[in-house]
Amino acid sequence: MRTQVGIVGAGPAGLLLSQLLARGGIESIVVEIRSRAYCEARQRAGVLEAGSVQVLRAAGVSQRLDRLGLEHGGIYLQFAGERHHIDFRDLTGGRTVTVYAQTEVVKDLIAARLSAQQRIEFEVTDTEVADLDTTRPVLRYTSAGGKRTEVNCDAIAGCDGFHGICRPAIPASVRTVHECDYPYAWLGILADVPPSTDELIYCHHPRGFALHSMRTPQISRLYLQVAPDEDIGAWPDERIWDELRRRLALPGWELKEGAIMDKSITPMRSFVGAPMRYGRLFLAGDAAHIVPPTGAKGLNLALADVAVLARALTSLIRGGRADLADRYSGACLNRVWRATHFSWWMTTMLHATPGAGPMEAQLQLAQLRYTTGSRAAATTLAENYVGYPPLKLNPDTP
Ligand SMILES: Cc1cc2nc3c(=O)[nH]c(=O)nc-3n(C[C@H](O)[C@H](O)[C@H](O)COP(=O)(O)OP(=O)(O)OC[C@H]3O[C@@H](n4cnc5c(N)ncnc54)[C@H](O)[C@@H]3O)c2cc1C
Repeated sequence: MRTQVGIVGAGPAGLLLSQLLARGGIESIVVEIRSRAYCEARQRAGVLEAGSVQVLRAAGVSQRLDRLGLEHGGIYLQFAGERHHIDFRDLTGGRTVTVYAQTEVVKDLIAARLSAQQRIEFEVTDTEVADLDTTRPVLRYTSAGGKRTEVNCDAIAGCDGFHGICRPAIPASVRTVHECDYPYAWLGILADVPPSTDELIYCHHPRGFALHSMRTPQISRLYLQVAPDEDIGAWPDERIWDELRRRLALPGWELKEGAIMDKSITPMRSFVGAPMRYGRLFLAGDAAHIVPPTGAKGLNLALADVAVLARALTSLIRGGRADLADRYSGACLNRVWRATHFSWWMTTMLHATPGAGPMEAQLQLAQLRYTTGSRAAATTLAENYVGYPPLKLNPDTP
């Protein structure tokens, strides 16, 4: 088989890339190890930067997002029994974020690809990439029906997440890795109950961090800091609500409870692999970098990578120009490191490190008071949270 771009992974990065390439007249195939139903139900991120919304609009997949997305103009920081609003509109000249679940982004993209008769092969096995340092890289996979297929491509996009096969296909001699694991994880629930708050609440507490987020006006998403090796079986619903009530408590405010529809534990990690390109293999999203979810950056970084990559691949394949492809990795890594720092900063300011003692808590409280008390410090948080300007590589500028 022959296609122009072979895409590994039908997460937000792979699907959006396929959609953007099609709009530039580039043909692709997406291969995915999971089923369509699994991809569409996998609970993950839910906050879109304005730049991500713009990219999804430009890709022609924003009809439901424009109708159902919830515009948010700030967050609350809660600590020491106080809740402070960080007003993004005021601090950043009117900028906001949009609450719209990753599950919905994925559903919108899959529907758009399939309605355009584009190929997404779900439930493949034994995905392999080869001949990456040639101009005809190869993608191989076994389809759900058991047929082994080899696809000759002009380029391959590794959008296969942190545990995928593409990043390890880059020779170790040319790869650099920076990583740190955090000594805690997030227990996340999706609850069938209207949010008890108008904006997300990020809560510092001696018992550990808690976050009240939401997905729709009817569905809440809440998180608790737990140990990285925590057993989800040790957390019956009543224990989760009890712990959320304790950590998020504020006089005069009540946490509404409802049926828990989904429950999972997510480890917390920072990881940056470089370069994001080897020959004709280009990595995007979690395949190249991971941030802890505290800064709501993972999904946004994946979409931002892909917006740049689509342009670079179109220029390479249709225009025969390699300059944008050559600049892809360096340009994306600048944004990735900024988001990695912000995510680390939010995480270490808000979580209780096991065994750290009272000194850490006092330093965190000092930073939280400064962040909520100083316009300059609040603006730093707000600017990073609402996101960075769109990255546009142009062929004729350095
Ligand atoms: C449990 C969890 C919770 C998260 N919560 C948040 C959050 O609250 N906020 C936030 O901003 N970010 C969050 N993130 C991060 C965010 O969801 C990711 O950054 C985002 O999904 C990245 O998109 P992606 O397309 O790069 O990767 P993914 O969404 O991981 O997609 C990769 C796809 O590749 C497929 N794949 C893997 N290996 C192969 C293979 N060998 N062959 C074919 N296909 C393959 C996978 O099945 C998957 O569908 C969370 C991540 C996880 C894991």
